[in-house]
Amino acid sequence: MKATEAFLPWLDFDIDGFVSRVTEKDVERVLEKEVLGYQDFLCLLSPVASRFLEKMAICSQQLTAKHFGRAILLFAPLYLADYCQNACVYCGFRVMNRFPRKKLSLEEIQRNGEILAEKGFRHILLLTGDAPAVTPVSYLEEAMSILSPMFDSLAVEVYPMTVEEYQKLRLVGLDGLTIYQETYDRKVYAEVHPSGPKRDFFWRLGTPERGAQAGLRWVTIGALYGLANPLHDAFWTAMHLMTLKKYYPEVEWGVSLPRMNPAEGDFVQKYNLPDKQFVQFLLAFRIFFPTVGITLSTRERPEMRDILIPLGVTKVSAESHTEVGGYAEHQEQVPQFEVADKRSVEEIKSVISSKGFDPVFKDWVRMA
Ligand code: SF4
Repeated sequence: MKATEAFLPWLDFDIDGFVSRVTEKDVERVLEKEVLGYQDFLCLLSPVASRFLEKMAICSQQLTAKHFGRAILLFAPLYLADYCQNACVYCGFRVMNRFPRKKLSLEEIQRNGEILAEKGFRHILLLTGDAPAVTPVSYLEEAMSILSPMFDSLAVEVYPMTVEEYQKLRLVGLDGLTIYQETYDRKVYAEVHPSGPKRDFFWRLGTPERGAQAGLRWVTIGALYGLANPLHDAFWTAMHLMTLKKYYPEVEWGVSLPRMNPAEGDFVQKYNLPDKQFVQFLLAFRIFFPTVGITLSTRERPEMRDILIPLGVTKVSAESHTEVGGYAEHQEQVPQFEVADKRSVEEIKSVISSKGFDPVFKDWVRMA
């Protein structure tokens, strides 16, 4: 675990001390630079940099156009099961929430896959809760064998696995992985994950590296904003990404900045990432990582998504259902979280086009 170990010292960095010393001149200097270091990134995250949003937006747009052109990839999540053994206090699927749990049968997987394929999707993300006893790797293998012929890219956002398990799934079509550390603040991490295997902060932290070691083509990481100090989590996410990129340059690394939405239960957020600061963070990520994909989920409100699409985003989910099998008829499962942007694929496509970008359904073809 070379990258994970190399990242650990960043968890002790004095972020607040550094940020308190940032001046307008520092931010201006950073915006003139070609290549940025970690201190430059912190300058862009600082409250002082919020006075430079317009300049940051121009810089971000130029870098995105240079490295990604005008294409924005559309993908859809498919929830296969909502069984979970963890107690994450912010999630509708947590073990103590009482509702009839569901796991899609192979026929239902086929049906949901067909519906997504009919809508035009070529990239899908498969999700489950963390319950390997109910949804073992063999179940995911079966699901992927069914879905693989229908799609060009299959990714997972499930429980952390071993290198060997990711390799097994690669053989049936897995090419990408999304894994959120949720928060890099170890104290808060322990508080919001009171029981279950997810309490193991370091096992989760090493997951993107294990995905890279298994030979996955792309890996997206991120924090869930709202659990801990957002500035800290943004900085640690970037340092994690920077370290992973250094050790595994062959992987297509990506980042996502999901903000918390209501889930089933009574979790009250202590932290917030206000809209303006959220935009600032997204721009800072783009300027610091010009070649890294940035994903925007349907957790964001339509008006917010419309503003962000031209600013540096490269991947967006559309018409998402966060309940199990939500694409097929007559499903009344509990969603993992509330989707804020409920617009159809066609509506999202037309928004992207109206901003001068090209909505695309595939940017990758799997060769047999
Ligand atoms: S966030 Fe994931 S691991 Fe935690 S309760 Fe929800 S589904 Fe389970």
